[in-house]
Amino acid sequence: MNLVLLGPPGAGKGTQAKRLQDQRALVQLSTGDMLRAAVAAGTELGRKAGEIMERGALVPDEIVIGLIAERMDADKGGKGFILDGFPRTIGQAEALDRLLEARGKEVDRVVVLDVDDDKLVQRITGRFTCATCGEGYHDLFKKPKVEGVCDGCGGTTFTRRKDDTEEVVRARLTAYHAQTKPLIAYYAKQGKVRSVDGMADIETVQKEIDQALDAA
Ligand code: AMP
Repeated sequence: MNLVLLGPPGAGKGTQAKRLQDQRALVQLSTGDMLRAAVAAGTELGRKAGEIMERGALVPDEIVIGLIAERMDADKGGKGFILDGFPRTIGQAEALDRLLEARGKEVDRVVVLDVDDDKLVQRITGRFTCATCGEGYHDLFKKPKVEGVCDGCGGTTFTRRKDDTEEVVRARLTAYHAQTKPLIAYYAKQGKVRSVDGMADIETVQKEIDQALDAA
C-alpha cells in the first residue's frame, strides 16, 4: 500500500509515519527529513533549501520531486511507501502519480490529519528532540520524567528545529492553506481520502488511522 499523509505542520505526520513504518513494513519518505539532512551535510542543495526553510516557505517542486525520485530508485519500498510531507503542491502530486505509475504502483490511500490551527502553534513551538536517539518531547505535553534526561536513552542533549519558532510556524501554516490544502480535493475526486481527528491523543489517532487503512 502506498499512503500519503496529509496535514499541516505539527499535525503528527512524522510521528504516525514512523510508527506505520515499523508496524507495517512500509518505507517512510519524508522530504522534510531529506532536506534537513542536506542542510546538515552542507551540500549546495542544502544551502539553497535551508534559506527557504528558515522562512517557512516551500522549496521548489523540482528539488523535492528529484529527492523523492532518487529515494524511490534506491529503495523499492518494501510493502509500500508512506509519503510524509510530500506532495505539498498540485504539481508535486501530479509528479508523484507519474513516478509511481512508472513503477507499476499508485497512491492507494490519503489520510488527512485534521487539526485546529490555533493549537498547532502551541504544539510546534514546544517540541524538542533527544539529540542522541531522536525521541520526541514537548514543553507542556510530554516532558522527560527527569528534567534534562531522555527517558529512552539517558541522553542529556536536546535539539529544537530552527523553523519551529512562532513566526516561521505561521508562515508554514499560510503555505499549507494556500498550496497544500487543495490536494485534499485532488485526491477526494479519486475517492482516496480518509480524514482523521488529529487533535485526539496519539493512541486514538493511531487507532483511527489503522481503521482508515484496513477498511476496504
Ligand atoms: P516538514 O519537516 O515536512 O515540516 O518540512 C520542513 C520544511 O521543509 C518546510 O517548511 C518546507 O520549507 C520544506 N519542505 C518539506 N517538504 C517539502 C515539499 N514537499 N515541498 C516543498 N517544501 C518542502
